[in-house]
Amino acid sequence: MEEIEILPNVKVKAYFLEDGANLVGNYIDLDDYVGGSWHEKEDKVLHITPLLVCLKKSYHNDVLNYEPNLETKGAWAVGTIDHNLFQDKVCETDGFYVKEFPLNVELEFKNDEFKLKIPVDDTVVYLVGKIDLLHNREHRIEDLKTFQHFFLPKDVSKVDIKYFIQPICYTFVANHTYYVNDPITEVYVVCISKKNLYTKVLSIEYTEEVGYACYKWLIERAKKMYGCLKSATIPEGEVSMWCKFCNWLDLPCAEGREHLKDILEPITLESTQFKKKYPDKKPYYRRDGKWNETKLFKEFKQESKN
Ligand code: SF4
Repeated sequence: MEEIEILPNVKVKAYFLEDGANLVGNYIDLDDYVGGSWHEKEDKVLHITPLLVCLKKSYHNDVLNYEPNLETKGAWAVGTIDHNLFQDKVCETDGFYVKEFPLNVELEFKNDEFKLKIPVDDTVVYLVGKIDLLHNREHRIEDLKTFQHFFLPKDVSKVDIKYFIQPICYTFVANHTYYVNDPITEVYVVCISKKNLYTKVLSIEYTEEVGYACYKWLIERAKKMYGCLKSATIPEGEVSMWCKFCNWLDLPCAEGREHLKDILEPITLESTQFKKKYPDKKPYYRRDGKWNETKLFKEFKQESKN
């Protein structure tokens, strides 16, 4: 219990319930915003989104039944709420929009023709996904992506590659099924900040060639993933900057840990003390893949010794 002066000479005693634990569950059921039938596991059905990230991570999520903690569920819920806000508003005001357009057509597979029904050995797997927004008159798809504000891409080169591939694959699929005669021509990625809804719209120039290349890449990943799941073989890790947020680092994922050792600034007792004294200065800088001590940090270490 702390005593806080809220006005001159007016004090109140206050404390956080349960030591400040996350009590979101007292107010809303986060499970209403995450999961649902779309995320339930179905035999022989692969969702497109997990194929776009590290397959080792997706494999573990699938096999080990990853149970997200409250903070992760909260972050997902915020994303879902933002999606609904955007989707509902545009669908209300423009009748040509379709929300959550499903891609689960079943077609026979022949040679290299486009299909969503993928034969793997003696069985067939289905690849499914949903287009966040499809504009039927403009022939445009809009893929909504919510970001922590910090990660909202500053320029096009900073946009994660998977955010190009996903809507391009959706477009390719749509153009070879429902939209054969009147293809989708515009591809947008709507990047939304979870902090203040700052919204940037990325327009991607779509060509059939690019669509086919992305689609083939996706199918290969689907086959690989299904093969791994079926034979209980863990796929190799695909390291990236997202490893530091991966739930499975502690498995441990050797590749992810090696990668982080390489990209994360070293943390030592001295560097922690340095940060306390100089919160705006850096103890290390990186050059040619190696971490080096800054001049100020070297001086700080010398002073500490004396
Ligand atoms: S730590 Fe990185 S490489 Fe390992 S499973 Fe996670 S994302 Fe993949």
